[in-house]
Amino acid sequence: MLFDTHCHVNDEQFGEDLEATMERAKTAGVQYMVVVGFDRPTIEKALKIVDFYDNTYASVGWHPVDAIDMQDEDLAWLEELATHPKVVALGEMGLDYHWDKSPKEVQKEVFRKQIRLAKKVNLPIIIHNREATEDVVTILREEKAEQVGGIMHCFSGSPEIAKKCLDMNFYISLGGPVTFKNAKKPKEVAIQVPMDRLLVETDCPYLAPHPYRGKRNEPAYVKLVAEQIAELKGISLQEVAQQTTANAKKLFGIE
Ligand SMILES: [Zn+2]
Ligand SMILES: [Zn+2]
Repeated sequence: MLFDTHCHVNDEQFGEDLEATMERAKTAGVQYMVVVGFDRPTIEKALKIVDFYDNTYASVGWHPVDAIDMQDEDLAWLEELATHPKVVALGEMGLDYHWDKSPKEVQKEVFRKQIRLAKKVNLPIIIHNREATEDVVTILREEKAEQVGGIMHCFSGSPEIAKKCLDMNFYISLGGPVTFKNAKKPKEVAIQVPMDRLLVETDCPYLAPHPYRGKRNEPAYVKLVAEQIAELKGISLQEVAQQTTANAKKLFGIE
């Protein structure tokens, strides 16, 4: 029984075969998933999906790449959505210095506003970080994000940074990159982070694990991520599945 804690089956790449994708996930043992929306269209689609499929939940937020587009009414909308029974987290939010559509200062402000909202509505947060680790950690600390905690999604940092995040009440979520042969850091992190603080995700349709690297990713492949973690930790797939699913259910307050 697996929990894909971060997927975008609301992406248009799943338009035609969403039904079949959900079926394949079930067959692979993926019983739960969180569908992440990060702007108006993807949030609306995520909510449609979670209204339709059992054991699917939504996280709603504003992506740092598009931070410049977020208006006050969007933040108010997120606050409204936080009361939806299947919305279990806010995000993805954070900082992304790889793309320069939104200036850093705007990204930081939008990130801070969303953390404050999460504290107000008492939901955990899902953090997107690309090439911005130092600023992400500083802002999480300054905003006292440990009060709500959450997930460092598709974590790609060092074990030292992972430790800092654990200390701030965050879970570490690993995705496809942990299966890549040359991925030293994610493998180190998988070994060092304790089992009760690890989660698995796909971030599909992006970042497909080996041997599907470069192809469209989908929730069924989260099993490959869990298998890799099991191998690295020297425990069974079943143990990884059971513990990561229990962690996710606890964090998201499911059952
Ligand atoms: Zn992301
Ligand atoms: Zn994502």
